Amino acid sequence: MAPTVAVVGGGISGLAACYHLVRSPHPPKVLLLEAGARLGGWLQSTRAADGAVFEHGPRGIRPGGAAGTDTLHMVSELGLAGAVLPVPGDHPASRNRFLYVAGALHKLPSGLGALLRPVPPFSRALLWSGLRDLLAPAGTEPDETIHAFVRRRFGPEVADIAVDSLCRGVFAGDCRALSVRSCFPLLFQAERRRRSVLLGLALGSGKERGAESGLSRRARAERWSQWSLRGGMQTLPEALAQFLRERGVELRCHQPLRSLRRRHDGRWELTLADGSVTADHVVSALPAAALAEALPAEAAALAQELRRIPTVSVAVVNLQYEGVALPVTGFGHLVPSSEDGSLLGIVYDSVAFPQHDGAAAASLRLTVMLGGAWFEQSFGDPAAAAPELLLHRAQAAVREQLGLEPAPTRSIVRVHQACIPQYTLGHWQRTERISRFLAEHRLPLSLIGASYSGVSVNDCIASAKAAVGRLLGPQH
Ligand SMILES: Cc1cc2nc3c(=O)[nH]c(=O)nc-3n(C[C@H](O)[C@H](O)[C@H](O)COP(=O)(O)OP(=O)(O)OC[C@H]3O[C@@H](n4cnc5c(N)ncnc54)[C@H](O)[C@@H]3O)c2cc1C
Repeated sequence: MAPTVAVVGGGISGLAACYHLVRSPHPPKVLLLEAGARLGGWLQSTRAADGAVFEHGPRGIRPGGAAGTDTLHMVSELGLAGAVLPVPGDHPASRNRFLYVAGALHKLPSGLGALLRPVPPFSRALLWSGLRDLLAPAGTEPDETIHAFVRRRFGPEVADIAVDSLCRGVFAGDCRALSVRSCFPLLFQAERRRRSVLLGLALGSGKERGAESGLSRRARAERWSQWSLRGGMQTLPEALAQFLRERGVELRCHQPLRSLRRRHDGRWELTLADGSVTADHVVSALPAAALAEALPAEAAALAQELRRIPTVSVAVVNLQYEGVALPVTGFGHLVPSSEDGSLLGIVYDSVAFPQHDGAAAASLRLTVMLGGAWFEQSFGDPAAAAPELLLHRAQAAVREQLGLEPAPTRSIVRVHQACIPQYTLGHWQRTERISRFLAEHRLPLSLIGASYSGVSVNDCIASAKAAVGRLLGPQH
């Protein structure tokens, strides 16, 4: 009889694990257990009756690298190629990104001109930062905060303004606490290999390539910066769920894992809210802290490591306006923490994906991101944060920073508690201790998902593929 693999957590990581399990030549019996009422985790889209789409989680996936190529391959296999909305390289949403500094919007420098002369908000030409990186000695620390690393290699302005903002946009986090080794492994490795980050990146690392598809070839030819799906990001988990059901995977919602216990025969017993199931192997696609709660007493050391991976909360405020125009056109703008801790940035959704505007003429969709590592100090306990307060803050930011005076015609406020794991300094040691514990105790347990080795959708899918490869062999 085929062994049973229980995948716990029905976010994109858990669904991708099921996808790779059932595609193996000798697929095990696969069971997916999700605590909530729906699958997809943070991939959440609201589809309005007039056709407008509002993203509450991820809104764009990058096509590049092996992981981006693999995701596009999966999307093709799911029959979604015709639903992909690409943002080509020459599109304003690819070319223009802004920072809001000292009360004004500044386009992030690009091109040779910006390299040679100072472009506000930077007081020096970026050439000097590049030269500094080429000449500075290599670091010797096994890990460093992103801020310390960038300051050392490129100077204080790049660290305080550009990279501070970038980390708020990607991790909703504080670059003075986040680890460069875990958050930006390519930069860290580039310095290790070539002494200079720029040199290391330019010379590449001969990395492996993902599974090619017509989509990935198109993405390269048209230099896509990102892509979405016609029905919003939620289309991806929906298509995965359909693919899995057709292949006999049992997808069970409303099934929170309460506890995990090893039986005498070595199999796992999973206690759920009502009843239990047994499995030969468990793939945990849960946030690290949720898994820690379910582990047996003999895995207390593992639970302790898992609890050390912190998270931050983000308020996502979707706004729709009628009859207004943005002062600039581009992907959106980020706000450095020195300007305003509480406001991470504003995405100009209608620029990248006008297909999601719906039937309303001259409609503009924006998303304001609030909180992150600054949530508690700005808005208090995320569990108790008042949606009216967050909406008020978001509207005020749109007024101040984009000059849009009218009230929005539609708004949706979501507070995502503990939604983005933070790879703080020393995260690599925590993940090493976690892997060592699993190996030494020969636990038939795989850990995947955003808590460990990358928070992007691509990273999560890649972590699922790698875990299935380790379980069934790389040719699965
Ligand atoms: C606001 C926001 C914007 C983002 N933007 C982008 C972006 O533009 N591009 C990008 O690439 N990435 C983005 N990300 C990151 C990316 O979306 C996430 O890292 C990724 O979706 C995490 O997927 P996951 O499956 O690992 O975890 P989750 O989505 O957290 O899924 C975990 C699942 O486990 C379930 N669960 C929890 N406890 C239990 C239990 N005890 N038993 C059973 N099930 C349980 C949960 O209900 C959930 O469904 C964004 C994230 C957020 C929050």
